[in-house]
Amino acid sequence: MNTKTRDTRLELITLLGSTTAVVIAAFALFRITQGAWLAAVVDLLIVAAVLGVVFYARASGNSARAGNILCLLNSVACLAAAYVIGPVALTWLYLVLLTNFFLADRRLALGVGLAMLGVLCLMPGQFADAFVMVSTLATAALTALFSYIFATRSQDDRVELQELASLDALTNVPNRRMMEKALAQALVNQKAGRCCYGLIVLDLDRFKDVNDQYGHAAGDNAIADLASILRFEMRKDDHVFRFGGEEFVVLLRVNNREELEAATERLRKAVRESLRGPGGRITISLGGALLGHEADWHDWFSRADAALYRAKQSGRDNYVIAEDLF
Ligand code: GH3
Ligand code: MG
Ligand code: MG
Repeated sequence: MNTKTRDTRLELITLLGSTTAVVIAAFALFRITQGAWLAAVVDLLIVAAVLGVVFYARASGNSARAGNILCLLNSVACLAAAYVIGPVALTWLYLVLLTNFFLADRRLALGVGLAMLGVLCLMPGQFADAFVMVSTLATAALTALFSYIFATRSQDDRVELQELASLDALTNVPNRRMMEKALAQALVNQKAGRCCYGLIVLDLDRFKDVNDQYGHAAGDNAIADLASILRFEMRKDDHVFRFGGEEFVVLLRVNNREELEAATERLRKAVRESLRGPGGRITISLGGALLGHEADWHDWFSRADAALYRAKQSGRDNYVIAEDLF
Protein backbone atom coordinates (compact mmCIF):
# COMPACT_ATOMS: atom_id res chain seq x y z
CA MET A 1 0.00 0.00 0.00
CA ASN A 2 1.26 3.48 -0.81
CA THR A 3 1.22 5.57 2.37
CA LYS A 4 2.95 8.59 0.86
CA THR A 5 0.93 11.79 0.50
CA ARG A 6 1.50 13.74 -2.66
CA ASP A 7 3.20 17.08 -1.96
CA THR A 8 1.64 19.38 -4.57
CA ARG A 9 3.58 22.39 -3.34
CA LEU A 10 6.90 20.59 -3.81
CA GLU A 11 5.89 19.68 -7.34
CA LEU A 12 5.00 23.33 -8.06
CA ILE A 13 8.25 24.61 -6.55
CA THR A 14 10.18 22.22 -8.78
CA LEU A 15 8.18 23.10 -11.89
CA LEU A 16 8.06 26.89 -11.40
CA GLY A 17 11.59 27.10 -9.97
CA SER A 18 13.27 25.17 -12.76
CA THR A 19 11.23 26.87 -15.51
CA THR A 20 12.05 30.31 -14.08
CA ALA A 21 15.74 29.38 -13.81
CA VAL A 22 15.90 28.21 -17.45
CA VAL A 23 14.11 31.33 -18.76
CA ILE A 24 16.23 33.75 -16.73
CA ALA A 25 19.42 31.88 -17.67
CA ALA A 26 18.46 32.43 -21.34
CA PHE A 27 18.02 36.15 -20.57
CA ALA A 28 21.46 36.18 -18.90
CA LEU A 29 23.06 34.69 -22.03
CA PHE A 30 21.34 37.29 -24.17
CA ARG A 31 22.64 40.06 -21.85
CA ILE A 32 26.16 38.69 -22.17
CA THR A 33 25.96 38.79 -25.98
CA GLN A 34 24.84 42.44 -25.61
CA GLY A 35 27.68 43.24 -23.21
CA ALA A 36 25.17 44.21 -20.48
CA TRP A 37 27.28 42.71 -17.71
CA LEU A 38 25.43 44.13 -14.69
CA ALA A 39 22.07 42.78 -15.89
CA ALA A 40 23.70 39.42 -16.74
CA VAL A 41 25.20 39.13 -13.26
CA VAL A 42 21.83 40.02 -11.64
CA ASP A 43 20.10 37.37 -13.80
CA LEU A 44 22.67 34.69 -12.94
CA LEU A 45 22.40 35.47 -9.23
CA ILE A 46 18.62 35.03 -9.47
CA VAL A 47 19.09 31.70 -11.31
CA ALA A 48 21.47 30.46 -8.59
CA ALA A 49 19.14 31.55 -5.78
CA VAL A 50 16.05 29.97 -7.39
CA LEU A 51 17.83 26.69 -8.03
CA GLY A 52 19.15 26.80 -4.46
CA VAL A 53 15.58 26.99 -3.13
CA VAL A 54 14.48 24.11 -5.38
CA PHE A 55 17.33 21.93 -4.12
CA TYR A 56 16.59 22.95 -0.52
CA ALA A 57 12.91 22.03 -0.94
CA ARG A 58 13.71 18.62 -2.42
CA ALA A 59 16.46 17.81 0.06
CA SER A 60 14.66 18.93 3.23
CA GLY A 61 11.08 18.16 2.21
CA ASN A 62 10.10 21.46 3.88
CA SER A 63 8.07 22.68 0.93
CA ALA A 64 6.11 25.22 3.01
CA ARG A 65 9.24 27.14 3.99
CA ALA A 66 10.84 26.75 0.56
CA GLY A 67 7.64 28.04 -1.09
CA ASN A 68 7.64 31.13 1.12
CA ILE A 69 11.31 31.78 0.35
CA LEU A 70 10.71 31.36 -3.39
CA CYS A 71 7.77 33.77 -3.21
CA LEU A 72 9.97 36.43 -1.54
CA LEU A 73 12.81 35.73 -3.96
CA ASN A 74 10.64 36.04 -7.07
CA SER A 75 9.15 39.30 -5.77
CA VAL A 76 12.52 40.86 -4.91
CA ALA A 77 13.90 39.68 -8.27
CA CYS A 78 10.97 41.27 -10.10
CA LEU A 79 11.53 44.58 -8.27
CA ALA A 80 15.29 44.40 -8.86
CA ALA A 81 14.71 43.77 -12.57
CA ALA A 82 12.32 46.74 -12.73
CA TYR A 83 14.97 48.90 -11.03
CA VAL A 84 17.80 47.75 -13.32
CA ILE A 85 16.07 47.56 -16.74
CA GLY A 86 13.04 49.78 -16.20
CA PRO A 87 9.32 49.37 -16.95
CA VAL A 88 9.81 46.53 -19.45
CA ALA A 89 10.34 44.27 -16.40
CA LEU A 90 6.77 45.04 -15.29
CA THR A 91 5.51 42.49 -17.83
CA TRP A 92 6.65 39.91 -15.25
CA LEU A 93 4.67 41.53 -12.46
CA TYR A 94 1.38 39.69 -13.08
CA LEU A 95 3.07 36.34 -13.44
CA VAL A 96 4.92 36.79 -10.15
CA LEU A 97 1.78 38.00 -8.34
CA LEU A 98 -0.18 34.98 -9.55
CA THR A 99 2.40 32.23 -9.05
CA ASN A 100 3.21 33.45 -5.52
CA PHE A 101 -0.19 32.14 -4.47
CA PHE A 102 0.72 28.64 -5.66
CA LEU A 103 4.05 28.72 -3.84
CA ALA A 104 3.50 30.45 -0.53
CA ASP A 105 1.05 30.86 2.29
CA ARG A 106 -1.76 32.91 0.75
CA ARG A 107 -1.55 35.70 3.37
CA LEU A 108 2.16 36.06 2.72
CA ALA A 109 1.55 36.09 -1.04
CA LEU A 110 -1.08 38.82 -0.68
CA GLY A 111 1.09 40.91 1.67
CA VAL A 112 4.14 40.58 -0.58
CA GLY A 113 2.05 41.40 -3.66
CA LEU A 114 0.68 44.61 -2.14
CA ALA A 115 4.14 45.56 -0.82
CA MET A 116 5.54 45.11 -4.36
CA LEU A 117 2.96 47.53 -5.72
CA GLY A 118 3.86 50.05 -2.99
CA VAL A 119 7.58 49.80 -3.82
CA LEU A 120 6.88 50.18 -7.55
CA CYS A 121 4.95 53.40 -6.83
CA LEU A 122 8.00 54.83 -5.09
CA MET A 123 10.42 53.67 -7.79
CA PRO A 124 11.10 56.52 -10.23
CA GLY A 125 10.59 56.04 -13.98
CA GLN A 126 8.32 53.00 -13.88
CA PHE A 127 5.15 54.59 -15.27
CA ALA A 128 4.88 56.88 -18.30
CA ASP A 129 2.12 58.96 -16.72
CA ALA A 130 -0.47 58.94 -13.92
CA PHE A 131 -3.02 57.06 -16.01
CA VAL A 132 -0.60 54.20 -16.79
CA MET A 133 0.31 54.09 -13.13
CA VAL A 134 -3.27 53.89 -11.86
CA SER A 135 -4.23 51.37 -14.54
CA THR A 136 -1.23 49.10 -13.83
CA LEU A 137 -1.69 49.26 -10.07
CA ALA A 138 -5.44 48.62 -10.27
CA THR A 139 -5.11 45.54 -12.52
CA ALA A 140 -2.19 44.21 -10.48
CA ALA A 141 -4.08 44.72 -7.19
CA LEU A 142 -7.12 42.94 -8.65
CA THR A 143 -4.91 40.08 -9.85
CA ALA A 144 -3.58 39.69 -6.30
CA LEU A 145 -7.04 39.98 -4.74
CA PHE A 146 -8.69 37.42 -7.06
CA SER A 147 -5.75 35.05 -6.66
CA TYR A 148 -6.20 35.34 -2.89
CA ILE A 149 -9.90 34.51 -3.15
CA PHE A 150 -9.24 31.52 -5.47
CA ALA A 151 -6.46 30.27 -3.18
CA THR A 152 -8.79 30.49 -0.16
CA ARG A 153 -11.57 28.66 -2.01
CA SER A 154 -9.33 25.87 -3.21
CA GLN A 155 -7.82 25.49 0.27
CA ASP A 156 -11.35 25.10 1.73
CA ASP A 157 -12.20 22.57 -0.99
CA ARG A 158 -9.00 20.65 -0.27
CA VAL A 159 -9.83 20.45 3.45
CA GLU A 160 -13.37 19.28 2.66
CA LEU A 161 -12.12 16.65 0.20
CA GLN A 162 -9.56 15.42 2.72
CA GLU A 163 -12.33 15.03 5.29
CA LEU A 164 -14.55 13.21 2.81
CA ALA A 165 -11.71 10.88 1.93
CA SER A 166 -10.69 10.16 5.50
CA LEU A 167 -13.79 10.28 7.73
CA ASP A 168 -16.64 7.81 7.84
CA ALA A 169 -19.91 9.61 7.05
CA LEU A 170 -22.11 7.84 9.63
CA THR A 171 -19.84 8.01 12.68
CA ASN A 172 -17.39 10.78 11.79
CA VAL A 173 -14.46 8.62 12.89
CA PRO A 174 -11.53 7.96 10.52
CA ASN A 175 -12.23 5.27 7.95
CA ARG A 176 -10.44 2.11 6.84
CA ARG A 177 -8.11 4.07 4.55
CA MET A 178 -6.84 6.06 7.53
CA MET A 179 -6.54 2.89 9.58
CA GLU A 180 -4.29 1.32 6.95
CA LYS A 181 -2.05 4.38 7.00
CA ALA A 182 -1.97 4.49 10.81
CA LEU A 183 -1.09 0.79 11.15
CA ALA A 184 1.64 1.06 8.52
CA GLN A 185 3.00 4.12 10.36
CA ALA A 186 2.92 2.23 13.69
CA LEU A 187 5.15 -0.45 12.13
CA VAL A 188 7.60 2.22 10.99
CA ASN A 189 7.57 3.89 14.43
CA GLN A 190 8.11 0.67 16.30
CA LYS A 191 11.01 -0.27 14.01
CA ALA A 192 12.53 3.13 14.79
CA GLY A 193 12.35 2.27 18.49
CA ARG A 194 9.22 4.20 19.42
CA CYS A 195 7.63 1.33 21.28
CA CYS A 196 4.92 -0.15 21.57
CA TYR A 197 1.55 -0.56 19.95
CA GLY A 198 -1.59 -2.56 20.58
CA LEU A 199 -4.46 -3.19 18.20
CA ILE A 200 -8.05 -4.05 19.08
CA VAL A 201 -10.56 -5.28 16.50
CA LEU A 202 -14.14 -5.26 17.75
CA ASP A 203 -17.51 -6.21 16.33
CA LEU A 204 -21.11 -5.83 17.52
CA ASP A 205 -22.70 -9.05 18.74
CA ARG A 206 -25.65 -10.53 16.85
CA PHE A 207 -26.16 -7.25 15.12
CA LYS A 208 -27.97 -8.74 12.18
CA ASP A 209 -30.88 -9.40 14.56
CA VAL A 210 -31.05 -5.69 15.47
CA ASN A 211 -31.33 -4.78 11.80
CA ASP A 212 -33.83 -7.53 11.06
CA GLN A 213 -36.09 -6.72 13.99
CA TYR A 214 -35.89 -2.93 14.23
CA GLY A 215 -34.74 -1.81 10.79
CA HIS A 216 -31.58 -0.45 9.26
CA ALA A 217 -32.02 3.07 10.72
CA ALA A 218 -32.05 1.68 14.26
CA GLY A 219 -28.91 -0.29 13.36
CA ASP A 220 -27.24 2.85 12.08
CA ASN A 221 -28.03 4.67 15.34
CA ALA A 222 -26.44 1.88 17.33
CA ILE A 223 -23.29 2.02 15.18
CA ALA A 224 -23.07 5.81 15.66
CA ASP A 225 -23.58 5.39 19.44
CA LEU A 226 -20.86 2.74 19.56
CA ALA A 227 -18.44 5.13 17.83
CA SER A 228 -19.24 7.84 20.42
CA ILE A 229 -18.64 5.45 23.32
CA LEU A 230 -15.31 4.30 21.84
CA ARG A 231 -14.19 7.86 21.25
CA PHE A 232 -15.16 8.84 24.78
CA GLU A 233 -13.20 5.93 26.24
CA MET A 234 -10.07 6.61 24.20
CA ARG A 235 -7.01 8.32 25.67
CA LYS A 236 -5.58 11.31 23.81
CA ASP A 237 -3.00 9.32 21.82
CA ASP A 238 -5.28 6.40 20.95
CA HIS A 239 -7.14 6.19 17.66
CA VAL A 240 -10.43 4.64 16.69
CA PHE A 241 -11.37 3.73 13.10
CA ARG A 242 -14.46 2.32 11.50
CA PHE A 243 -13.11 -0.66 9.61
CA GLY A 244 -16.40 -1.31 7.87
CA GLY A 245 -19.94 -2.39 8.72
CA GLU A 246 -20.25 -2.77 12.48
CA GLU A 247 -16.58 -3.49 12.96
CA PHE A 248 -14.19 -0.98 14.53
CA VAL A 249 -10.46 -0.91 15.14
CA VAL A 250 -8.63 0.78 17.99
CA LEU A 251 -4.92 1.57 17.79
CA LEU A 252 -3.26 2.42 21.08
CA ARG A 253 0.12 2.94 22.70
CA VAL A 254 0.70 0.25 25.32
CA ASN A 255 3.81 -0.97 27.09
CA ASN A 256 2.86 -4.63 27.43
CA ARG A 257 0.20 -7.29 27.11
CA GLU A 258 -1.36 -6.40 30.49
CA GLU A 259 -1.99 -2.80 29.43
CA LEU A 260 -3.55 -4.01 26.19
CA GLU A 261 -5.77 -6.44 28.07
CA ALA A 262 -6.86 -3.72 30.53
CA ALA A 263 -7.82 -1.39 27.67
CA THR A 264 -9.70 -4.16 25.86
CA GLU A 265 -11.69 -5.09 28.95
CA ARG A 266 -12.40 -1.41 29.69
CA LEU A 267 -13.95 -1.01 26.22
CA ARG A 268 -16.01 -4.17 26.55
CA LYS A 269 -17.40 -2.99 29.88
CA ALA A 270 -18.07 0.56 28.72
CA VAL A 271 -20.05 -0.68 25.71
CA ARG A 272 -21.93 -3.24 27.79
CA GLU A 273 -22.93 -0.54 30.27
CA SER A 274 -23.82 2.21 27.79
CA LEU A 275 -24.91 0.81 24.43
CA ARG A 276 -28.65 0.31 24.05
CA GLY A 277 -30.73 -0.39 20.96
CA PRO A 278 -34.53 -0.49 20.62
CA GLY A 279 -34.42 -4.07 21.92
CA GLY A 280 -32.16 -3.32 24.88
CA ARG A 281 -28.48 -3.95 25.59
CA ILE A 282 -26.05 -4.43 22.71
CA THR A 283 -22.60 -5.89 23.37
CA ILE A 284 -19.35 -6.27 21.51
CA SER A 285 -16.63 -8.89 21.20
CA LEU A 286 -13.00 -7.87 20.92
CA GLY A 287 -9.68 -9.28 19.79
CA GLY A 288 -6.41 -7.64 20.81
CA ALA A 289 -2.87 -8.08 19.51
CA LEU A 290 0.43 -6.45 20.43
CA LEU A 291 2.58 -5.37 17.53
CA GLY A 292 5.37 -7.92 17.27
CA HIS A 293 8.00 -8.22 14.56
CA GLU A 294 5.54 -8.17 11.69
CA ALA A 295 6.86 -6.69 8.46
CA ASP A 296 3.33 -6.09 7.17
CA TRP A 297 0.42 -4.61 9.13
CA HIS A 298 -1.96 -7.17 7.57
CA ASP A 299 -0.26 -9.91 9.63
CA TRP A 300 -0.74 -7.92 12.83
CA PHE A 301 -4.36 -7.23 11.93
CA SER A 302 -4.96 -10.92 11.13
CA ARG A 303 -3.78 -11.93 14.60
CA ALA A 304 -6.19 -9.48 16.25
CA ASP A 305 -8.97 -10.64 13.93
CA ALA A 306 -8.29 -14.28 14.80
CA ALA A 307 -8.52 -13.34 18.49
CA LEU A 308 -11.86 -11.63 17.81
CA TYR A 309 -13.09 -14.80 16.10
CA ARG A 310 -12.17 -16.76 19.21
CA ALA A 311 -14.00 -14.26 21.42
CA LYS A 312 -17.12 -14.74 19.26
CA GLN A 313 -16.77 -18.51 19.46
CA SER A 314 -16.49 -18.40 23.23
CA GLY A 315 -19.92 -16.86 23.58
CA ARG A 316 -19.59 -13.13 22.68
CA ASP A 317 -19.51 -10.06 25.01
CA ASN A 318 -15.96 -11.19 25.54
CA TYR A 319 -12.35 -10.53 24.53
CA VAL A 320 -9.30 -12.59 23.63
CA ILE A 321 -5.69 -11.39 23.41
CA ALA A 322 -3.81 -12.92 20.49
CA GLU A 323 -0.68 -13.52 22.56
CA ASP A 324 -2.70 -16.02 24.62
CA LEU A 325 -3.71 -18.08 21.59
CA PHE A 326 -0.39 -19.81 20.96
P1 GH3 B 1 -21.82 -11.77 15.28
O1 GH3 B 1 -22.13 -11.72 16.70
O2 GH3 B 1 -21.27 -13.09 14.84
O3 GH3 B 1 -20.96 -10.64 14.82
O4 GH3 B 1 -23.22 -11.65 14.56
P2 GH3 B 1 -23.70 -10.52 13.60
O5 GH3 B 1 -25.15 -10.70 13.34
O6 GH3 B 1 -23.31 -9.22 14.13
O7 GH3 B 1 -22.88 -10.92 12.34
P3 GH3 B 1 -22.01 -9.99 11.47
O8 GH3 B 1 -21.01 -9.29 12.29
O9 GH3 B 1 -21.50 -10.81 10.33
O10 GH3 B 1 -23.16 -9.02 11.00
C1 GH3 B 1 -22.99 -8.01 10.16
C2 GH3 B 1 -24.31 -7.34 10.06
O11 GH3 B 1 -24.17 -5.98 10.38
C3 GH3 B 1 -24.85 -7.39 8.67
C4 GH3 B 1 -25.60 -6.16 8.52
O12 GH3 B 1 -26.94 -6.45 8.74
C5 GH3 B 1 -25.12 -5.27 9.64
N1 GH3 B 1 -24.47 -4.05 9.15
C6 GH3 B 1 -23.25 -3.93 8.61
N2 GH3 B 1 -23.00 -2.63 8.29
C7 GH3 B 1 -24.10 -1.93 8.64
C8 GH3 B 1 -24.44 -0.54 8.58
O13 GH3 B 1 -23.69 0.32 8.11
N3 GH3 B 1 -25.65 -0.18 9.06
C9 GH3 B 1 -26.51 -1.10 9.59
N4 GH3 B 1 -27.67 -0.67 10.05
N5 GH3 B 1 -26.22 -2.41 9.66
C10 GH3 B 1 -25.02 -2.82 9.20
MG1 MG C 1 -21.30 -8.61 14.37
MG1 MG D 1 -19.30 -8.00 11.54
